[in-house]
Amino acid sequence: MKKISMRFVVCAIVASLFILMVCPIANAAAGLTAGIAEIDITPPVGYRLSGYFIERQSTGVHDPLKAKALVLREGDVTAAFVVCDVIGLPRSVSDPARTLVAARTGIPAANIVITGTHTHTGPLYYGTLRNYFHEQAVAKNGKDACEAVDYPAQLIEKIGQVVSKAAKSTSPVILEAAAADQDPSLSFNRRFHMKDGSVRFNPGQKNPDIVRVAGPIDPQVGIVLLKAPEDRKLKACLTVFALHLDTTGGTLYSADYPFYLEKTLRASLGSDLMSFFGTGTCGDVNHIDVTVEERRKAEEIGELLAKTVIGQVPKARPVEPAPLAVKSRTVQALKHQYSEEQKAQAAKDVALVGTGKLPFLEEVESCKIVDLARYPGTMVPLEVQAFRLGRDLAVVTLPGEVFVEFGLAIKKASPFKTTLVVELANDVPAYIPTRKAFGEGSYETVNSRIQPGGGELMVDAAIEILKELAR
Ligand SMILES: [Zn+2]
Repeated sequence: MKKISMRFVVCAIVASLFILMVCPIANAAAGLTAGIAEIDITPPVGYRLSGYFIERQSTGVHDPLKAKALVLREGDVTAAFVVCDVIGLPRSVSDPARTLVAARTGIPAANIVITGTHTHTGPLYYGTLRNYFHEQAVAKNGKDACEAVDYPAQLIEKIGQVVSKAAKSTSPVILEAAAADQDPSLSFNRRFHMKDGSVRFNPGQKNPDIVRVAGPIDPQVGIVLLKAPEDRKLKACLTVFALHLDTTGGTLYSADYPFYLEKTLRASLGSDLMSFFGTGTCGDVNHIDVTVEERRKAEEIGELLAKTVIGQVPKARPVEPAPLAVKSRTVQALKHQYSEEQKAQAAKDVALVGTGKLPFLEEVESCKIVDLARYPGTMVPLEVQAFRLGRDLAVVTLPGEVFVEFGLAIKKASPFKTTLVVELANDVPAYIPTRKAFGEGSYETVNSRIQPGGGELMVDAAIEILKELAR
């Protein structure tokens, strides 16, 4: 009796091992399904544009701004990843949008992430400057002609619609992952040690006072491919790269270089392919090479990035299934504190922004001091989410414009073979510099809502939840 049962146990173990070994071949057998959808979120022409410390209005559309949703489902776990062609999303938009999506789809708000790509040719629809320009217009003309629509309300509703649409259209999917280094001529750390001992951001091309660069870049392009199991047709591609979106300029609405990334991917890989772009941690990284006079244009950047992705498609490895899982943790970062006098002065100084009467960093600081009122109390909550897409693949999302060192640290410590780190998720506490950068100063540290140490807390939380997901 004992012998028989032992033999039975051995057989059962062998059978289970066999099943475990066979399962990865048929990724879809694990039950992962995905739905994708997109919606136009372009505001009416004439709406103000974001990205700079001056008022400027859109004069047309170069390419439509979009919100794209990817819904992943496995068993009773569902997650939604939404990418919007906007500079970012404050919690006054992302919170109600997540609540709306949860109510319409049943996806828990904690499993939903809404990211902004950081395009500088999208709407200025929140923040100190928007409020100031809006109030000025209303005081002067009784209404704000730039805001023909309630854009935040529209955006919330459209996010609700696009995720619902994606959630209704899920079908089995196979995931493949790849990672490749982009050639180093595409992204540059934008902070430099100068001859006078200071550290400056964007000191200008061919500036003879530059001594050396103050930080690294992350050359890695993270790629996730979503394919139909029956014919291996590529349905969608997620590309994550750490490079600031401000490469278009002008006053036409545009998604910036991710538009050209999608255009080039479609020309090569299929006209109905949907390209999701996750902005990597690029708080201190942009496209300006200070050693030359020229700058790459959005089109060239998108095409070069697409070339890297296309080169990786045949080499992508099937993602070993693991049940889809999401974990999140909110860390509390200390908020920058200012006296009542400083707050009152800042409220007055906002009126001088863009007039040339205030030094640039004082403009930045005034706007920041006024904006800090968004966070009641002494803390800025920073929500970190991690999505396990496979045994060897995870995506981490972080709020704010995160310094590249933090993304690199998370990837290095992650137990997952491939970890993609996406910034500007669910909130916009502006820059998240490292302790080292806070010590050095310059624009990003002035334009940060948090005190030194908040970013490091976020990294610790990300690594912790990644380790929990890898268990
Ligand atoms: Zn920025």
